[in-house]
Amino acid sequence: MRILIAEDHPDNREMLTRRLERRGYEVHCAENGAIAVEMAKSCAPDLILMDISMPIMSGIEATRVIRQTPDVSAVKIVALTAHAMESARRECMEAGCDDFATKPVDFAGLVALIEKIRGVSALGLNARQIRRSWLARHQGKPRVYANISSWPAAY
Ligand SMILES: [Mg+2]
Repeated sequence: MRILIAEDHPDNREMLTRRLERRGYEVHCAENGAIAVEMAKSCAPDLILMDISMPIMSGIEATRVIRQTPDVSAVKIVALTAHAMESARRECMEAGCDDFATKPVDFAGLVALIEKIRGVSALGLNARQIRRSWLARHQGKPRVYANISSWPAAY
């Protein structure tokens, strides 16, 4: 599996590269969003780990450009950001990211996410399609309360 790390901070880039290579992934690096867009085309990664806060072009902008670029528009993109708020997550998802991880990166959690994405890719679905079908299945269904003491007052 080929992974492109788009990250402006050299220490973060080197740490992620070293640890992912040790796990057997092929790793390429870009130090800003503009380079990430070019490398998405030139090295055809299976997954991009996209830092959101980068100079020249942010991860949000780079994701939007990639989603509109033929041949690479379907690449999986996982946003990496220090902002854990729901609004930050929503902005990433709206830009077209498939998933989201907060920094400092929990490496075991990141590897689990990468492997989940690899499994989903093998089925020919992307994470957004999976999430959309899950939401479609669960929308409008009443909540089930396991025992009467947990029922809300207005139920
Ligand atoms: Mg950064």
